[in-house]
Amino acid sequence: MKLLKSILGAIAAGSIAFSGPALAQGKSTVGIAMPTKASARWIDDGNNIVKVLKERGYNTDLQYAEDDIPNQLSQIENMVAKGVKVLVIAAIDGSTLSDVLKQAKAGGITVIAYDRLIRDTPNVDYYATFDNLQVGVLQAQSIVDALKLKEGKGPFNIELFGGSPDDNNAYFFYNGSMSVLQPYIDSGKLVVASKQAGMDKVSTLRWDGATAQARMDNLLSAFYTNKRVDAVLSPYDGLSIGILSSLRGVGYGSGNMPMPIVSGQDAEIPSIKSMLRGEQYSTIFKDTRDLARVTADMVDAALSGKTVAVNDTTTYNNGVKVVPSYLLKPVVVDKTNWEKVLIDSGYYKKAQIN
Ligand code: BGC
Repeated sequence: MKLLKSILGAIAAGSIAFSGPALAQGKSTVGIAMPTKASARWIDDGNNIVKVLKERGYNTDLQYAEDDIPNQLSQIENMVAKGVKVLVIAAIDGSTLSDVLKQAKAGGITVIAYDRLIRDTPNVDYYATFDNLQVGVLQAQSIVDALKLKEGKGPFNIELFGGSPDDNNAYFFYNGSMSVLQPYIDSGKLVVASKQAGMDKVSTLRWDGATAQARMDNLLSAFYTNKRVDAVLSPYDGLSIGILSSLRGVGYGSGNMPMPIVSGQDAEIPSIKSMLRGEQYSTIFKDTRDLARVTADMVDAALSGKTVAVNDTTTYNNGVKVVPSYLLKPVVVDKTNWEKVLIDSGYYKKAQIN
């Protein structure tokens, strides 16, 4: 007993170190650069990744850049200067980090692209993300199902929205969606009344909800004064909320004008509430707890010289090389399964939604 007490005392005083892998690396600091606190998903990402890394004995330096590219750049420069061992970066603009990552590589820092691919540099080692093409496929399939297009219903009017053109993911979402929607557009069962299609026409800089709302206002007044819009492809909940508010402004969602089918992504709380009010139709849940765990596994393996687990070595060419990736599975959420997916899994508490 006495012996046990003195061993415990010594551990508490820090004079005996554990020799397990996590604690052996415990002094390493991981720099985490997140894009913005304006969207809840990135706050969850930051919290989850710090939690997992701390549990594994790492120090963390978490920074948010409020969607300001020079701000993110200088945050990463500071992390490099402070001597972090790993950088985990969710880039604002995926192609603006080449110089700082060159410095990082020279300093022996492992670079992990988090959720968003970092482009145009050889100095990114791994990519942890979700199957982004599948996100787009699921968004479009949920529209197709809701409109009963497979059952031969239609034609319906649809408008298309894309994400930020400086985010590689936005192209994957859009292409995934169009792989499902294009055949219906070709057969005339879906009609894009504005004829605005292609990321060059439908993208939304910085994923900004107000920008999407303004574009929806314009679409409605230019193309829908004498017909209704039946569906809107939206790649992100923050855009969906803006789009829905524009639609509400001209009377959709009341009287004999039901809301169009509007998709989304990230299962953010305002969108779940909107779904329950019968406005937003669906969203895509990407469990940021899983992404944090996969990223922490990458950090652990890289720092202990082990093989980093990846499950995709072909899809994500960043313009210089194919970045070895770990892709997680996205899940579509609508009124029928939100409780099972979001509450039963412990991601949200029911009180947050009601
Ligand atoms: C993420 C999405 C998110 C979007 C806007 C994308 O890179 O993958 O989950 O909706 O950025 O923040």
